[in-house]
Amino acid sequence: MNSDDDLDDADDEGDGGRLRATVAPDAVPVDLASAFAGDRAMTEAERGRIESLKEQRGAAFFSDLLYAISHRYFPPEIARSMWDEILSHKLRMSGRLGRNACMAVATLDYLSNITGEVRSFTLMSEPDVAELVNLSMRDRMTGLFNHTTCYELLELELGNHRRYGVGVALILLDIDDFKFVNDRWGHQEGDRILVELAATLKEQTRDSDICCRFGGEEFAVILRFTNDPREAFQIAERIRTGVTSIASHGQAMSVSAGVTLCAGAGETSRTLVERADHALYRAKRSGKHRVVAIDGVVRVPDST
Ligand code: GH3
Ligand code: MG
Ligand code: MG
Repeated sequence: MNSDDDLDDADDEGDGGRLRATVAPDAVPVDLASAFAGDRAMTEAERGRIESLKEQRGAAFFSDLLYAISHRYFPPEIARSMWDEILSHKLRMSGRLGRNACMAVATLDYLSNITGEVRSFTLMSEPDVAELVNLSMRDRMTGLFNHTTCYELLELELGNHRRYGVGVALILLDIDDFKFVNDRWGHQEGDRILVELAATLKEQTRDSDICCRFGGEEFAVILRFTNDPREAFQIAERIRTGVTSIASHGQAMSVSAGVTLCAGAGETSRTLVERADHALYRAKRSGKHRVVAIDGVVRVPDST
């Protein structure tokens, strides 16, 4: 399903790290980072949020702060001291200006005029930046998270598992005999099915689940906060059943699915995907239109 290259890319510390800071559901919002830097007074609730973010993100907290403000990723060991230096710079600038120089302006001045790290820059409103980041994380056709983001989000969940013991499961799905649809009815019809399938995934999963387009006609669902294999299996079954109401020229579609649960602290996104892929392979080999869980439970499809 995946070449090793794809997996290597996902593990890469460069872009992977940068995206990780962006997509962390608990990453610091820019407004909070700016309040934390003293641009305005913080509410009690915001103070509490900062404390819990510090605890959750550990050393990565300062990377998140700087990312929120500058959209640049700095490794935790550098981010901490850099944050302090920029704060001092902000105070000096404010003193000279006779008014508050906000953290975003101080950061930009620091990175462009002091360290020279940012040579040419453009001003963009925060909503525009958020939209761009959002676009880069998603698959255009279906609007689901794309392959790279899927790995990033999986890594985040595995981090939560290691740190807090939060359960996580993964479902990989592949449409059965999809080539037939393309060959018989054309790619446009195939595309329409992919979009419908994405909608079915959203319908049949919970708000906390993360639906991704993993590849061409392959999908992944990350089940957050899930440590019960039966629960994971049931959700995969719900999707499998839901997909049968999608039809192409009167012919009901079907999917095969592989399900697996995070097995412990040594788990990586690669091992989790490999196991789910293996389960999916077994679902295909044993007749398609079924869910196979990693513990070997095979559900034969009902009459639908
Ligand atoms: P199986 O049941 O074994 O999965 O058989 P299959 O026919 O579904 O075979 P396979 O999974 O290998 O087929 C993938 C097909 O999906 C081939 C490719 O042309 C098609 N496909 C991949 N991406 C897209 C896409 O974006 N749009 C359309 N229309 N087709 C796509
Ligand atoms: Mg396939
Ligand atoms: Mg297929």
